[in-house]
Amino acid sequence: NHVNADTKTYNIGTDVTYPPFEFANKNNQYVGIDIDLMKAIAKEEGFKVNIQPIGFNSAVQSLQSGQIDGVIAGMAITDERKQKFDFSKPYYKTGFIMTVAKNSNITSLKQLRGKRVALKTGTAAANYALSLKDKYGFKTVTFDDSDNMYNDVVNGNSVACFEDMPVMQYAIQTGTKLKIVTKPAQSGYYGFAVMKGKNQELLHKFDDGLAKLKKNGGYDKIVNRYINQNT
Ligand code: GLN
Repeated sequence: NHVNADTKTYNIGTDVTYPPFEFANKNNQYVGIDIDLMKAIAKEEGFKVNIQPIGFNSAVQSLQSGQIDGVIAGMAITDERKQKFDFSKPYYKTGFIMTVAKNSNITSLKQLRGKRVALKTGTAAANYALSLKDKYGFKTVTFDDSDNMYNDVVNGNSVACFEDMPVMQYAIQTGTKLKIVTKPAQSGYYGFAVMKGKNQELLHKFDDGLAKLKKNGGYDKIVNRYINQNT
């Protein structure tokens, strides 16, 4: 095996903790559907990745200013983001849900009037919540990480938070003391992002690798590593 001197290394920004898509495992290794998928695609397509867990909002900002080559972070493909970024083919389905403390009586948006809601900076779920803020008359507080947002609700400082369905389901399954009270709204898909018009070669490699992994079972294997399809 010879090392190809032309092997390109791409800097990929991601979230610090957004399980099951990216998180540090017990051995302090960075894992998750996004991380494994990115690595498997890199292997399939013959390039290298330098994964940078810098937080969701920071990753998006860094991509916009051209400091990194791509972002994979459970990032929803939205019309607004498509103005600034080019996205891969969708690779995972999602939707926004409202989550409250396990012992809370709140089950609807109407009950948020005058109350405080926790959001995560720069996320699609936060934008969704902000679009409802005036109508339902709630106040908001923002956090950079999902964990801090969840804790604000668990501790009773906020009465609810808005998050993506698969992420919240995973958090609850792994012990976060919250419950989902709404059906998923505005369903969409996660995609890998590069700066608009830049790194098209990387984008094509991603799409090509993703298609191969979907065909050869590699994609399902990665998802099943983290998500119990029977629940
Ligand atoms: N899925 C959300 C979005 O696209 C949040 C992503 C994240 O927090 N890592 O905005």
